This record gives sequence, structure tokens and C-alpha cells, in this order.
Amino acid sequence: MQVLNAGYEPLHHVSLQHAITMLARGVAIVEEFVEGATFGPHPLPTKVRLLRYVAMGWLQRRAEACTKAGVRARDRHRCAYCGGRADTVDHVVPASRGGALTWLNTVAACRACNNAKADRTPAEWGRPLLVTPYVPERVVALRPAFAPA
Ligand SMILES: [Zn+2]
Repeated sequence: MQVLNAGYEPLHHVSLQHAITMLARGVAIVEEFVEGATFGPHPLPTKVRLLRYVAMGWLQRRAEACTKAGVRARDRHRCAYCGGRADTVDHVVPASRGGALTWLNTVAACRACNNAKADRTPAEWGRPLLVTPYVPERVVALRPAFAPA
């Protein structure tokens, strides 16, 4: 069910149970309801609205799990060594030497560079990275602080 902010902007969706709890706690009112249907003392809601305005700026940055597909997407499918089209993922510190599949130890690479680099670090191979690996983040909205868990 949709929850509207105090200013009527759509905020997020919650379960009916969650919405009933919000109504019972007096933090929201019914904005739209099913004609003739009730839920306890309330009309059966299809849309509720918060009585207190919730700032939309409460955001949290959360790291994505590292995957090979994710690394290629992060690097826009460009090889970190030659700038060509990347269809593999290179471990900067080779996996054979303990390098892990993490955002900071992987770059997109073309097959030719990956094969040529083999079991070496970029420094040992003599080819600097054209990009600096980083941890991509996505921004997710938090629940309003007063909403029941
Ligand atoms: Zn390459």
C-alpha cells in the first residue's frame, strides 16, 4: 500500500499490517479506502498519508557485493590496461598470489591484456592501470525514523 508524505508526495510502500500499525499509532491517516470495507474502527485503507512531514534526504550509501559482471559494468566494459573492449575481469594482485575478488582488487580487462599480464602485478608487467578501482555505491532511502519496524 502506498504511503504519502504529509505533503502528498508518494514516499514508499508498506504492508497493510504496517499501515494499520501506523494508523493505530496516529502517525498516519487514511487517504483512500475501499468503499464499505472496514478494518477495526478504520475504513480499509488503500493509501495512507503521514501526518508529520518526513525529510526525503535521509539516505544511506550501501556497497554492492562484488561480482565479475559488476566489475565490467563499473569499468564500462573498457580494458583497464589498453582501453579496448573488456570481456574478462583481471585480479590486480593475481588470484594465484592471494588477490581476492573484491572491488578494489579487480578491473575489467580484455582477454589479450589479461593473458599477457598473467601472474604478475601491473608494476611487474610494466603496464600501469588506466583506472583506479573503487567501490561503487548505490543510494537507498531509509524508512521514516518513527515507522514501526
Ligand atoms: Zn586490454
